[in-house]
Amino acid sequence: TTKTLIPDETIRTTCTYCGVGCQLDVSVIDGEIRGIQAPETAEVNEGHTCLKGRFAFQFYNHPDRLTDPLIKRDGKFEVVSWEDAYDFMAKKLTAVKEAYGADSIGCISSSRATNEENYLMQKMTRVALNTNNIDGCARVCHAPTAYGMQKAFGTGAATNSIKDLGMTDCILLFGANPTEAHPVTGARIKQLFMQGITSIVVDPVKTSLAKLATYHLQLRPGTNVAILNMIGHYIVKEGLVKNEFIQKFTEQYNEFYQHVISLDMNELEYITGVSKDLVKRAAIAYASSNNAMEFHGLGVTEHFQGSKTVMLLSNLAMMTGNIGRPGVGLNPLRGQNNVQGAADMGVQPHQGAGYMDVNDPEIQNYYAQKYQIPEMPEREGLKIPEMLDAAINGKFKALWIMGEDTLMTDPNTMHIRKAMEQLDILIVQELFMSATAEMADVVLPASSYFEKNGTFTNGERRVQRVNKVIDPIGNTKPDGQMIIDMMFKLGYEQPTGREYDAAKILDEIADVIPFMKGINWERLGTNGLQWPVLEDGTDTQIIHRDGNFRRGKGKFHHFDFEETPELVEHRNKYPFILTTARQLEHYNAGTMTRRTDNQELSPMDYLEVNPLDAAEKDIGADDKVKIFSDRGSVIIPVKLTYLVKPGVVRTTFHQPEIFINMLTGNVGDEFTLTPEYKVVAVDFEKI
Ligand code: SF4
Repeated sequence: TTKTLIPDETIRTTCTYCGVGCQLDVSVIDGEIRGIQAPETAEVNEGHTCLKGRFAFQFYNHPDRLTDPLIKRDGKFEVVSWEDAYDFMAKKLTAVKEAYGADSIGCISSSRATNEENYLMQKMTRVALNTNNIDGCARVCHAPTAYGMQKAFGTGAATNSIKDLGMTDCILLFGANPTEAHPVTGARIKQLFMQGITSIVVDPVKTSLAKLATYHLQLRPGTNVAILNMIGHYIVKEGLVKNEFIQKFTEQYNEFYQHVISLDMNELEYITGVSKDLVKRAAIAYASSNNAMEFHGLGVTEHFQGSKTVMLLSNLAMMTGNIGRPGVGLNPLRGQNNVQGAADMGVQPHQGAGYMDVNDPEIQNYYAQKYQIPEMPEREGLKIPEMLDAAINGKFKALWIMGEDTLMTDPNTMHIRKAMEQLDILIVQELFMSATAEMADVVLPASSYFEKNGTFTNGERRVQRVNKVIDPIGNTKPDGQMIIDMMFKLGYEQPTGREYDAAKILDEIADVIPFMKGINWERLGTNGLQWPVLEDGTDTQIIHRDGNFRRGKGKFHHFDFEETPELVEHRNKYPFILTTARQLEHYNAGTMTRRTDNQELSPMDYLEVNPLDAAEKDIGADDKVKIFSDRGSVIIPVKLTYLVKPGVVRTTFHQPEIFINMLTGNVGDEFTLTPEYKVVAVDFEKI
């Protein structure tokens, strides 16, 4: 017989995985989560989810959950009380500050945590630890998007909304595979591709969307700037630019024009490996469409020329007038659920909450007055790679990480391990004993997103509620509660009180960040609000409306292609290019999804190798290989596939057995230091 289970309650919340920000209805029976449905009334996902959001929830009560604070003594973790953990941390942090100064301490916040928690983390770093050394995991993903779009448009956020897909005639998908990484948006894009919309995919891999696209520009990894220069050249040469828009709303176009018109297409064809005729046809198709939308992902940002690529993508939108109305614009596909929100909240060493420059004395006064403290730290802080380098040089002594497995996800594992070993204290807030937590001196057990209130901001600037579904597991606390507790220990009294109250903290955020002025908990309702939100609660689906860029005129930039130092230095010895990717079933380091049934669906990472390369190296379909770079080596099973071209290999990095970041290096984006995960010089051999 079958028994129908009636939930005790069903609570609406926001998915914790990717930046699409799907709404979920979570059903609870006897305090346990028993199922998740997709509400049809949700504006973001309209009744759809992917198999992460809907099924990968069992991690929340997995036996591996950390349930008590831990302090490492003589190399072993001991369970302690919260009070003991806080006292230990306060004593150590104060000693480090007195001995080496406030700038020897730094914090890494989390794009997985709520806006309120990110806001508190950056605030604690600045007002209680007195340093701007605060950074987040955008450093390893979309920092070039924020930087490049701010330079071009004045705002580092998606210009349009996902629902604009219904109003576009052309999609340019650049360095993104939303089918795996943003599945609900990916499915909508796929439907449009199948219906025959003009579609251009720029990707070194023949992804499932690339197979369906009108044009697939399968370029050599690392040559994004070169191919965008080709596209720009052909649009200019064919006379497809929108002169009136350019004259009225932009500047520096002439310099850009002179640059692209003089470029040698034969040379760029050789560099990119893509036929110039194909690029020309794709460029004409994009520029001739009535409304063209651009989407980009980590295939743009995780490169040596990542920020420059973002600025060139911005050029495309401006030169063809594809900005400031429905169905157009530049739309970064944000990886983590709250990567947009973490940056909005000031999780950056150079800008505080609301993207205001921390080294500007007027801004310092503004924050000091809002935070009710005499003065703010003046010096711009360190980015994550700079903190780690400073630790190796003995100048950085204390690191506090909230919800990040830095050792597993950041590049060059041995370098990070060495840096962490030099610290006087490493503090980690986590759900599970991650590789980074293993190295910590203090581990604080965090509540998952099911166990707390707050908000996440999705990739279209939509701030949505995260509603508590169940009580915190074991002796865990929300990250925000731990930060408030520690602020108090360090001498700062949070004005909203000693309890982590998301609604009150959101009010404080609305008071500090001008573009969130009209946001409050009640107004967010069930579908959230897209910033900027005016005082009366009116939100904004499209920014830069009618060419009104947020800080003056839109700015053109121009750049030459430069080969990444990774290949210049290492390709003679390591002739293959490794590029990294994601699987639908898993999320990043897999900390959560590996502890769900999704692990059964996809239990392995593979190295994808073109059969021609495999034949040359006598590698068969069931073989394992040792893959090595200048930094280290790992052993990994192979999968033979024509999805990658000869000379290119690809892998995911969800399983801890294969520590793929043993291979990745220290080359990063010139402006933001975002690591170049997408081009790693490697070689491999059968074992
Ligand atoms: Fe969650 Fe993203 Fe899947 Fe939506 S598409 S259910 S936000 S992982």
